[in-house]
Amino acid sequence: MLRHVAVVSQSKKIKSADVAAAAAAIQKQVSRDFAPIWEIQATVSYFETLKNVPLGSWPVIIKDDIHEPGAAGVHLDDNKQPYALVQAEDFWQLAASHETLEMLADPSGNRLMTGSSPKKGQGQVQFLVEVCDPCEANAFAYHVNGILVSDFFTPHYFDPAPAAGTRYSFSGAIARPLQVLKGGYLSWFDPVSKHWFQETLFGTKPAIKDLGAMRIEETIRGTFDRRRGAPPWHGRKAPIADPSALASQQASDAIAELWEISIAGLA
Ligand SMILES: [Zn+2]
Repeated sequence: MLRHVAVVSQSKKIKSADVAAAAAAIQKQVSRDFAPIWEIQATVSYFETLKNVPLGSWPVIIKDDIHEPGAAGVHLDDNKQPYALVQAEDFWQLAASHETLEMLADPSGNRLMTGSSPKKGQGQVQFLVEVCDPCEANAFAYHVNGILVSDFFTPHYFDPAPAAGTRYSFSGAIARPLQVLKGGYLSWFDPVSKHWFQETLFGTKPAIKDLGAMRIEETIRGTFDRRRGAPPWHGRKAPIADPSALASQQASDAIAELWEISIAGLA
């Protein structure tokens, strides 16, 4: 099945050429990296305004003010169709990639996968499938066309035991099942206690918190997003001279020059 994602910016701070370039990079990431692993195909396209978005597309909307950092993420519209909000700030491309991948892996915001709990004393539990959250920090992101995109876990992330040569996240930053990297988190439901739990690595040591019997609001994902607050890159400055971005721009400039020469030669 082919899904359709529409990237739209309502921010005057971001140039439309940059939004189009980000959409193209995320499209490449989805087709080349994500689709073979999760068996989900999608088009990712840039549109100038929401009114240009064709019916049936899931929009990723970049805004100057999404009201609270916790509002970044995937929401459901009145007909329970997904859309995502991204704050117009440094690392917005990474955030757009994060939300696109999570929306594709779990459009409803309620997808659970079963596995062994990371908490001693718990048995089989149900993990919320948020493919970017355990590895969401910019430190683990990678470049596509010189644009920073999010690392994401693979279905092997929930394997009962590590195995040599297995990929747990696309970039390889996650080295074993259920590993939470710095700045990341993982949420699960324990059917015995009927409590939700969350493992975070926000400081130097991982911590597991019992969140109790949570009342699930619109979606499980939404309930967690509202508690989470800002992602690790919120308020950070992206590097001014990103070598990968510079190299990509240099290559694009050079090939553009070649095309211009070729076209001029037709005359
Ligand atoms: Zn997420």
